[in-house]
Order: sequence, then C-alpha cells, then structure tokens
Amino acid sequence: MQKVLFLQLPPPRFDFCETPTNIPLAAGFVISALKHELARDQSLHDRVEINLLGNSKVDIFGDQGLISAINDAQPDILCLTLYLWNVQRSLFIASMVKRQIPGIQTVVGGPEVTPDNDWVLNHPAVNVGVFGEGESRILSVLVNMGRMDRLRNIPGICYKDSSELIINGQQPELWDLDKCDYPYLDGCPEVKSSQTAFIETARGCPFKCRYCFYHKSFNSVRLHSDSRLNRLFEFIYSDACEVSEVYLMDPTFNARRGFRSILGFLSGLRARKDIRLHTELRSDLLSEFDVDLFREAGLASAEIGLQSTNAEALRKANRKGNVEATLRGAGMLKQRGIEVTTGIILGLPGDTPEGFRKTLDDLKTSGAYSVIHPFVLSALPGTDFRLRARKLGLQHQDRPPYHVYQTPGFPEEAFRECLIEFETEFETELDHINPPSMVSSPTWGPDSLDDEPYVSKWIIQIPQSIPERLVESVARKSTDPFSLWFAGNIHGPGEKQVIDVLRIFGAANPYTSLHLILESETPVTLSMLDEMIGILGQPGLYLNRYYQPLYEENEVISPCIWILAPDPGDHNIRDSFVENYGKFARIVWKMKEIDVTKCENTQTPLLIDHVTNMSIQKLNKLFNKLKRIHDNSLEEVLFSSGLVQALWDSRIRGLNSKYRITEKILRS
Ligand code: SF4
Repeated sequence: MQKVLFLQLPPPRFDFCETPTNIPLAAGFVISALKHELARDQSLHDRVEINLLGNSKVDIFGDQGLISAINDAQPDILCLTLYLWNVQRSLFIASMVKRQIPGIQTVVGGPEVTPDNDWVLNHPAVNVGVFGEGESRILSVLVNMGRMDRLRNIPGICYKDSSELIINGQQPELWDLDKCDYPYLDGCPEVKSSQTAFIETARGCPFKCRYCFYHKSFNSVRLHSDSRLNRLFEFIYSDACEVSEVYLMDPTFNARRGFRSILGFLSGLRARKDIRLHTELRSDLLSEFDVDLFREAGLASAEIGLQSTNAEALRKANRKGNVEATLRGAGMLKQRGIEVTTGIILGLPGDTPEGFRKTLDDLKTSGAYSVIHPFVLSALPGTDFRLRARKLGLQHQDRPPYHVYQTPGFPEEAFRECLIEFETEFETELDHINPPSMVSSPTWGPDSLDDEPYVSKWIIQIPQSIPERLVESVARKSTDPFSLWFAGNIHGPGEKQVIDVLRIFGAANPYTSLHLILESETPVTLSMLDEMIGILGQPGLYLNRYYQPLYEENEVISPCIWILAPDPGDHNIRDSFVENYGKFARIVWKMKEIDVTKCENTQTPLLIDHVTNMSIQKLNKLFNKLKRIHDNSLEEVLFSSGLVQALWDSRIRGLNSKYRITEKILRS
C-alpha cells in the first residue's frame, strides 16, 4: 500500500485563537481527481491510500508538532502546496521529515512551483514538482515516483535524476472540471464547520497583468458548470453546514461569463441563510444594475485592484481599464454599503514616488475606498516582470515575498518614505499587530504536559532552573503562533535562564511566529532585548522579509516582544517608556485592579488583572465604559482572567467563540 499525505500550511498569523483562513482547496481538487481516477482502476485503488493532514493539526501546531504529526502518519509520499507565505516553512518541515522517514518522497505544487523558481525546484527536500493545475497528472506522478524512465514522459513536471534537475516543459492536457464532484461535497477538505468557504467558480483569467502569474498557468478561462456550482451552493446554504461567509475567489468575479445568474441563484438562497459574500471585482466594468445584484446576493466586501492612477505605470503593467470608471465603480459599491478594499502597488515600472503620491491624492479626492491596501511590487516567479527584471532595472529579494526594493524610478529609500507617508496621510499603521492574549488563568503544570494535545502559551517564573528536557517537550507540543511569557526577575541568573530557553525553542521551531512577553520586576536591559532578537529574529523569515520595506536594518517583526509594565497613569512617563523601548518592543500597561471610576485615564494596550469580585452589573458597566474610551482599539483591552476575556471578546468585540481556538496555558 502506498500512503500519500497532502499538506497545506497556513499563512503566518499572530493571534493563536483566530482560526486561519487556510482551506486546502487546491489539494482538494487534486484529491477529488485522484479518487475519481482510482475508482476506475481497482488494482490501483487497493494500492494507494490518500489522506489530507487536517486543519485541527495544520492550523495549530508549530514546526516540531507538524513534523511529529507527519511522522505519525508515516506516508510514503508527502504532497505540499506551496504559496509565498508557506514555502520556506513547508520545505524546512519536509527536510526534517526526510531525516526521520527514510525513503519518503515529496511532490510539490502551487504558485511557487514554476520552471524559473530555481531555489524551490533545486531544494534538496523536493523530489518532483508539478507545474500548474495538478489534476490531470497527479496519478501518473504518484504511481511512477522514482522511475525516471516514466517520469520523463509526464508533461509539465520537474524531477531529480540523481541530483540533476530535469524539467519537462510540455503543456499538459486540460482537466475537465466537471469530471468529479466539487471537493467540499465529499468532505475533503472539510468545510461544514468552518466560518468561511473559499469557492472557485471559474479557472483562469482573461487579463494579462505583467506582475501576475495566475493567468499564465491557464491559457483559457474555464467555468465550473452551473449544475455543479448549484449543488455546492445548496449544501453551503443548508442547515447541515455552518459556513457564514463565502469568498468567491475568482480573480475578477464580474469578468466571469454568467456571473449574474450565479448572483441570482445566491439571492434566492439568502432566504434560507444570510451568508456574507466577499470577492474581487473590476469596478470599471460594473453597472448600477450589477451593484444592485451584488447587494441582493449579500456582498459584504469587495477587493478592487486600482494599482495606480499613473497611466504610464498601468500601461507598462498591461493593466487595461479606465481609472475614472474604476473609481466611480468603487464609489457605487460604497454607496450601497459594500466595504471596498482598494489595492495599490508601490514600485511599478514607470512609476515614481511622485506618481505614487498622486495615486494617493486621487484616491483621497475620490473617496473610492473603505480601506486602502498598499502592496510593494513583488517580482513573482513565472511573471513577465520577473522574466524581464534585469531589463526593467527591478532589483528584488531572492526569496518570498520577492519584494522589489529598487527600480529606475524608485530609489531604495523611497519605498520606506512612501509607506510612511501613506501611514501618516491615512492615519494607519501598516505593521500594526494586536497584542497576544494575556490570559494567565486557568493554567496547568508540567506534570500534565503528556495529557494535553498542544501548548499555546508558556508562563515561566524566573529565576528558576528549567530542565532542558522540559523545554524540548514544550517545543514539541508548541503551537504556531506561540507565546513565551517570562515573569519575575529577568536579571543575573534570570537572564541566562531566559536565553537558554530561547536558544532551545528557537532551534526547534525556527518558522514559528513568536510572542515574547516580558514581565520583569526590574526593567529589562536594552542589551538583553538585542540578544533575544539576535537569537530568534531570523531576517530571512517570510514575515520579516514582508515588513522589511518598513524597517531599518536588523529590525524584525517576529519575534514580537511585549513588555508588561505597571501603568504609571501618567502620559509623560508612558511616553518616555515607549521612547526607550520602542525600537525593540511594544509596551502593554498593566493595572492590578480597576473600577469604573479609574477608566478615564487608561491607555491601550491595557491588561487588567483583577475584576474577579465584580458583580455582573458592575462588569457590564466597566465594559461599556472601556468600550466608549477605547472604541478604536477594543482588541487592545486585555484581561488576565480567561472567563472575563471571553466575555469581552463576545459581548464587546462581537467575536463568535465557535470559530475561536482554545488556548492551552502551561505554567512552571
Ligand atoms: S492580476 Fe488579476 S486581473 Fe490581472 S491577470 Fe492576474 S488574476 Fe487576472
């Protein structure tokens, strides 16, 4: 029996309790195709077992936990879907698994697998790469793993013969999308208890933007048939399914033939269940009639790719369309109460800092946005811009997210300046991270470690000697993201104990997003913070590269350090504290006790330790007052008690606990 395991790692996140939007739909399509093909060949059917590593593990475990989960499954072949945000972590995990399971083979697919992305194809953890959609070739690849004479004849793949990389660049046959049922309908991936379902109604894009790879991996637009989609929507809108949001993930939903009839069908289903829709649109193609259809179908938000108002930059990007009509269409959506996220790109060939500023001015004048999302241009593998990067003078990172950091029109320093101007102009913080949960009860002790499936936070009282074995055990069960909380006196022997834990933990889980919470009785020294970042702050980590345009040399976003300080209640003292630590850490103001009369002068991020003896009426009064004072930063009002935090999250922040992951807190 050949055991095949599929795996798609989630995008990095900093809030452990928030369920990531990581639905392995691409793997689901491939698995449906495999099942379909295997059902037609009984001899193969009995020889191949297919599994998908479920979200209850994939979305929770840190690096070591994932390695153990794969090891437990003992697959013969590990299939990984590689995106910008997970490729480095996935390949690290595959490398570790290869050390533990002799003979295991790997197959990689996804947008990171393109013939020009050498660093991925040549990675020692990769045995075979499948370019483009995998359905038509996956069975041939799996049954011929290790047989070079056969792999050679499979179009659109690469493989290693000894250590030589062989690429077969032939175009594969197109897969008939209607051959098998939509993946969610056979429970793989499981969607019925998720908050969001991602649904592809068409594959391919009629446009040819030069910074994009999507249109290149499909040479035509193919539709999932109405009957297949209707069956799927009937299920999503039924009582058997708990989904409350649908993301229609076609790159331009309103450029899809027949989009109005889908909207009509969804409007009819809304009588059963009011599901919120989200999608990406070309707003220049929208009529008033279309906008009404979208509203009736339940569209809550839309992403609009304006990219720039600079005609030269749009022309060079082959981004056709009318800027005025785009802004007008976005305005129509907003008028109907639909949230519009308008995307703009910084660093397009042909653009300049002045051009970028003009785009910001045009947006501000038109008001054609609810939120603006500025992207730094990425020279993505497989795209025209990547292919012509040298000719266009685009200097870019060699690893994800492949950000461009210099162009003939944009000097290197202009990227940071433009982003900071954007932050000032639109009163936003691009690298804003909400503080992690600071719940410190209920907890359990090291003796219970074996009984718990995972640990999401470890509170360590310093100084104490921490056995290396305990750190290793926690590192194996730790989540991604993970919080390490050091309380007590982080000085003298305490400093060394902290550093020892970080070294062991960081080596075991190098790709885990980490919060470090420091609650020291005496102030932590800047040199200690610098040392911590030196141990854990890999500048090559996806998140750190992603935020690099905003940061100075050696600044990183992960690990994210939080200093818990007693609230002095005085703005000047708070400001000088923030100024002192700002380069390394964010400050959370802790109040031991609070009552309604002491709220006015509080500042977020705020941790409230004690509200335990309050009656429910008093607690409600406190909540309402805190809400009024901190209306713009409700996520930064934190409570030590798990029960009180859960009440705040549900009553004041409106979070649905059904979709939140439960923390597991270890104290030693
Ligand atoms: S950026 Fe969007 S519209 Fe342009 S080619 Fe890619 S998928 Fe199509």
